Amino acid sequence: MSAPMIVFDRVSKNYGDLAVLRDINLTVAAGEVISLIGPSGSGKSTLLRCVNHLERIERGSITVDGELIGYRRNGNHAYELPEKLIARQRARIGMVFQSFNLFGHMTALENVIEAPVHVLGIPRREAENLGAELLVRVGLADKLKSYPRMLSGGQQQRVAIARALAMKPKVILFDEPTSALDPELVGEVLDVMRSLAADGMTMMVVTHEMSFAREVCHRIAFMESGRIVECSTPTEVLDNPAFERTRTFLSKVQ
Ligand code: ADP
Ligand code: MG
Repeated sequence: MSAPMIVFDRVSKNYGDLAVLRDINLTVAAGEVISLIGPSGSGKSTLLRCVNHLERIERGSITVDGELIGYRRNGNHAYELPEKLIARQRARIGMVFQSFNLFGHMTALENVIEAPVHVLGIPRREAENLGAELLVRVGLADKLKSYPRMLSGGQQQRVAIARALAMKPKVILFDEPTSALDPELVGEVLDVMRSLAADGMTMMVVTHEMSFAREVCHRIAFMESGRIVECSTPTEVLDNPAFERTRTFLSKVQ
């Protein structure tokens, strides 16, 4: 087993009176691809959002590559990091959303180099070379100068993945990356994700694509009501779920 890359240690989060994450313990190894499945409202998006401190947790801790997210420890106390240091941590945690969130007034290449140039301070020419390479890697060699409105949803999502890669992330979190796509465009995005997995990228993927989860993911975690109910290999979770609730959920999505 490789070194741990993401560690959730007794993570809890509430929205007011609503407990959205309850005592989450999970270790994602370096190079591991884990998918999160479960009913709507079970806390999957919130769990991902906590990893890059888009949401704050009430109890427990999250570390990425050994670094405590959002806080620094001093003895038994944890102090919130200044915004600037949180931004630095966030920069190395890629996130890909259902809605691609590209800048409409920028070309594909400009979208990809925006953060490397403005957040990391990489010289523009260097960033352009890297950005072009990444767009080639996601199969968009001929779309560098295209604006999002000229691209299909699948192409836009691949630009979004190239944009995440441009920050040389330690991990990439995918929140239903293919849910907004027409069915015929899903495959091209999953293919890119499959190749990232083969290259050893650590990934957490919220998805309803069970065949992707089965083929590509090392483990599947089933969430319900803010808890990870079971977490095991795809074969065990999909073919032989230990819990009735997992079975009921799977019978609806498969
Ligand atoms: P999932 O991604 O599994 O569908 P979410 O993480 O989006 O679930 O949501 C978990 C629960 O938290 C849901 O009950 C949802 O309504 C609630 N929730 C999510 N975001 C907020 C928010 N900003 N304020 C209050 N409640 C929220
Ligand atoms: Mg969600």
